[in-house]
Amino acid sequence: MPELPDVEAMRRHLVGCGLQGRTFTGAIILWPRAIKTPPLEDFVLGITDRRIEELDRRAKFLLFRLDDGQSLIVHLRMTGSLLVEPAFEPRHPMTRNYFTLDDGRELRFVDPRKLGMLWLVEDQGQVLKGLGPEPLEPSFTPQVLMEQLKGRKVPIKALLCDQAVVAGIGNIYADEILFASAIDPLTHGADLAHSQVERMYRAIVVILAQAIENLAPIVPRGGPPTESPEGLSTLKVPRKESQPCSQCGAPIQRVPVRGRSTYFCSKCQG
Ligand SMILES: [Zn+2]
Repeated sequence: MPELPDVEAMRRHLVGCGLQGRTFTGAIILWPRAIKTPPLEDFVLGITDRRIEELDRRAKFLLFRLDDGQSLIVHLRMTGSLLVEPAFEPRHPMTRNYFTLDDGRELRFVDPRKLGMLWLVEDQGQVLKGLGPEPLEPSFTPQVLMEQLKGRKVPIKALLCDQAVVAGIGNIYADEILFASAIDPLTHGADLAHSQVERMYRAIVVILAQAIENLAPIVPRGGPPTESPEGLSTLKVPRKESQPCSQCGAPIQRVPVRGRSTYFCSKCQG
């Protein structure tokens, strides 16, 4: 599933495609179930002839702020990606919905598993409510992280993936962050020492920022770039049991945490 670095790399790619300032001239909805609000007809009417003022991101959501104050919000979920291509180019067979632009191109939502979601709303808070701090914003500090973990008798791996604790982190980058901080993924948030939380804070900021840089060049090929062969090669924790730890060579272990495969080195993370 795309995580913050995938979505931010995609946002930068779309900005690089010159999407800001372009106008949607129509919306062709082939998979209506992706539209969460408003009803389909209102969605299409509401987006048509609206100019994209700004392309932003919050957690794993892409936010297209439109010139009438509304926002088109996109969540890519498991397999979604957005492509900007000339209208004359054949569309990817798994293009579920697409938007025509005033410059002869199209914004195409390709989504093999059909899990992606789109909203058109006046108030972004309607969709974004309940999200925790944005980890690459200056307002996210070690103290903020400490507060978020206080008293939480839940494995830190699950807390890192909880969008209300820190926004944007998912399964893969939580494992990378815990490996870099030498923390056992099963440790409860409440039991972490001050120094461990500070180390984890630094790892969150450094790893997410570095991942965005790594992924930016491989976004246009579609799908979550982290899960492409190039993306996987940038990870420090192999996504496979018994592979050697990149630091000590011991076999990587897999443990389910709240139903999600967690990879870690029991030697380095203790
Ligand atoms: Zn190790």
